[in-house]
Amino acid sequence: MDAASLLERQKTYFKSGATKSVEFRIHQLETLKKLLIEHEEEWNDALYADFKKPVFETYATELGLLHQEISFTIKNLKKWAKPRRVSRDWVNFPSSNFVFKEPYGSVLIIAPWNYPIQLTLMPLIGAVAAGNTVVVKPSEITSNTSSVMNLIMSKWFKEEFIAVAEGGVEVTQDLLAQDFDYIFFTGSTRVGKIVMEAAAKNLTPVTLELGGKSPCIVDETADLKTAAKRIAWGKFLNAGQTCVAPDYLLLQASVQKEFLEYFKEIVREFYGVNPKISPDYTRVVNESHFNRLEGYLQDGHLYHGGRTDRSECYIEPTVLTEVKPGSKIMEEEIFGPILPVLTFEKVSEAIAVIQEKPKPLALYIFTTDSQTENLVLEKCSFGGGAVNDVVAHFGSHYLPLGGVGRSGMGAYHGKQSFETFSHSKGIMKKTFWADLPFRYPPYNGKLKWLKKILN
Ligand code: NAD
Repeated sequence: MDAASLLERQKTYFKSGATKSVEFRIHQLETLKKLLIEHEEEWNDALYADFKKPVFETYATELGLLHQEISFTIKNLKKWAKPRRVSRDWVNFPSSNFVFKEPYGSVLIIAPWNYPIQLTLMPLIGAVAAGNTVVVKPSEITSNTSSVMNLIMSKWFKEEFIAVAEGGVEVTQDLLAQDFDYIFFTGSTRVGKIVMEAAAKNLTPVTLELGGKSPCIVDETADLKTAAKRIAWGKFLNAGQTCVAPDYLLLQASVQKEFLEYFKEIVREFYGVNPKISPDYTRVVNESHFNRLEGYLQDGHLYHGGRTDRSECYIEPTVLTEVKPGSKIMEEEIFGPILPVLTFEKVSEAIAVIQEKPKPLALYIFTTDSQTENLVLEKCSFGGGAVNDVVAHFGSHYLPLGGVGRSGMGAYHGKQSFETFSHSKGIMKKTFWADLPFRYPPYNGKLKWLKKILN
């Protein structure tokens, strides 16, 4: 792939105005929906080949979320795209103010491997809805999905409108050297810095959807059984390879024993006594991630799980207690099916643990005490999250999804996606019927009036 010539063709296509009409955009979104449905089996097979992802999870966390987002966007697009009249200020009387939404032009979307369809196509929906052309760069790690995506998308879309750039780091670097009008990156904080540095060379605006260690607090007032069930689901979904998965647990010491018993029970209920043979349990994506995760098993006491099989990149759902202070598992984003548990006496101690780490992408608090809930939400800065649930906020198109600080900048999903990929052009409209002389020279004697008006 020649990145420079691909971008040139996309820029020419964009300049032709073809992507500008709302009807065109809606038609393309309908096409996207159609191709998701028509090729459902190919998508399922590719994800299974990449990391044994169960078909139910593929629909719940990839295809289904995309269907929902497309339908919501199509339903609202006319309204979002319409120029919006806003209030006017009297200094400029007589005038009216409008905000026009304008596509940036050619957008580059760089995606990670953990939800390889959804995290590539979800931002694409926003970019297309806003009227841009798009180059998507799926992850090379889930290569079956990337090549299926390339085949399918190139069959349904012209390359000058939507193109899939398959390949590794060199391909991304080549793309990043081009003068795109917007870059949307999802991935690690480390690569996020590389992307932002490259974007700075052309002053290209960026959204960075990054990761981090998302804490999950459970206090003694919570419904422990339900909390255990929800946390186990969110942690072991996709074998923990979820950007908003609870990374580590902060558990009130008074309920530690009871909660962990429930947790162990529910993991057995979900995946059986041997999760390796469960059809509902995903694999770690490759050997290098397997090695990294296996190393964490030394960082505490194995309360539950811990069995592994390198030949299958299998790691059992695992709970670690008595985590060694300063150990790697508490420094790095885990991104796998291992849950370290720390305990606290007072909620202020849990807050202190969170505050001393970089701002996470998500935070979860299980409590029925509204004071505790408010304290945590007020004192901790994080991208987004949930009270008495985990992960589920990701699926609501009414909530912006994005990080803060080291977990990223900017947000998307639903209307926020449309906003992210649109420039807001503020326009003041005047007529010729009045032209107040006030602002024109000579200024003699006008300053005191100006001060009165602007105060
Ligand atoms: P990654 O940063 O390694 O890779 C992401 C993309 O960047 C891939 O397409 C890859 O080809 C490219 N890339 C890798 N190294 C590069 C380099 N040196 N120069 C240029 N491009 C490069 O991330 P990953 O391992 O695919 O995904 C896991 C990370 O993504 C985790 O940190 C996770 O939390 C985060 N994530 C965040 C979200 C979110 O919504 N905020 C969602 C999913 C994953």
